[in-house]
Amino acid sequence: MSRVIFLTDRREAAGLAPAPARAFAPLPAHGEPLLDTRGRPLRDLRISVTDRCNFRCTYCMPREVFDKHHEFLPHRDLLTFEEIAAAARVFVAMGVRKIRLTGGEPLLRRNIETLVALLAELRTPEGRKPELTLTTNGSLLARKAQALKDAGLDRVTVSMDALDPAVFARMSDSDFDVARVLEGIAAAAAAGLAPVKVNMVVRKGANDDQILPMARHFRGSGHILRFIEYMDVGSTNGWNMAEVVPSADVVARLAEAWPLRPLQDEEMGRVAARWAYADGAGEIGVISSVTQAFCGGCTRARLSPEGRLFLCLFATHGHDLRALLRGGADETRLAQALAGIWRGRGDNYSEHRAQADAGLAAAGEHKIEMSYIGG
Ligand code: SAM
Ligand code: SF4
Ligand code: SF4
Repeated sequence: MSRVIFLTDRREAAGLAPAPARAFAPLPAHGEPLLDTRGRPLRDLRISVTDRCNFRCTYCMPREVFDKHHEFLPHRDLLTFEEIAAAARVFVAMGVRKIRLTGGEPLLRRNIETLVALLAELRTPEGRKPELTLTTNGSLLARKAQALKDAGLDRVTVSMDALDPAVFARMSDSDFDVARVLEGIAAAAAAGLAPVKVNMVVRKGANDDQILPMARHFRGSGHILRFIEYMDVGSTNGWNMAEVVPSADVVARLAEAWPLRPLQDEEMGRVAARWAYADGAGEIGVISSVTQAFCGGCTRARLSPEGRLFLCLFATHGHDLRALLRGGADETRLAQALAGIWRGRGDNYSEHRAQADAGLAAAGEHKIEMSYIGG
């Protein structure tokens, strides 16, 4: 049998045989969940379809790094739509119930609705269609929303960091008009991709003056605004704890303007804490990845544009599924590989960020970039 590599680590880079321990594990018994070393099931799959983007958000793709000399992945290295769908079929068979397309900017991938249509054909072992969502910067959404809905997409999340055009331009480091993002949100809702979630990354001193204007704008609209703590993803954004606005402060600022009451949510894997406006004007969410780690309920796997499987947003290494897909592995083989990889997962970066960072620095390793793996 030819050598099949699906563990990407320094042993592989050095031309040594991949660590064999987790190869082709037995599949879970029928009806049994696939659990990692911390007892977390595999439930969510995030698929990054491109590492390219038409924005240069300062916290994600700083222009000094992602400039004209930056080498993006060549097209031949990207998984094809058929390869993505083949991999996703196995993930769904192994427990995934929600699939999110992301990037880079996923709407830059030509004919992305064709991929949505392929994914919409998948069925869970219970015969249900997995929930299909997509995260976008909204720049191309007005013209794509209906086609995405028709292809089988269920919902979209739109990233928008400011209402004020000047702040928006500074955050996205683009001259794109925020009004067109608002048009995209409206088009998505009109197409039935609702409720639309709007994600705002809050960076102290950069856009925290937009918290109240954003809340005022989206209150009562039917869209759900979510405030995300600025995270130390990757190694290019020069992250600094002093620039993080803790979610508790965001909630306090909002509650001063409009009383809020917490909403209970027991669903495992949900990352946002939800609050309802007491006056019935809808809800908001806060995602406290920095100040309140939620690794204990993290049920997410992430597939990179060229088919590497990452088990954590802060991982340094992925597992090469493309080699299996292009090497002719059948679904059983893929499922066995996935079972072995997931069972070996122990990631909990956010629960011990400081020690983890010190360890990475000592080993000279870099976390993957958000624009490569998606949020
Ligand atoms: N381009 C699409 C978009 O912006 O929605 C999808 C990919 S983007 C990497 C996914 C999400 O990650 C966005 O909501 C973005 O705001 C968020 N994000 C990127 N870098 C971040 C950081 N350093 N901290 C927190 N969120 C971040
Ligand atoms: Fe592009 Fe999204 Fe990153 Fe902004 S956050 S640079 S829109 S990938
Ligand atoms: Fe999941 Fe890793 Fe984030 Fe923890 S740090 S919640 S394991 S992605």
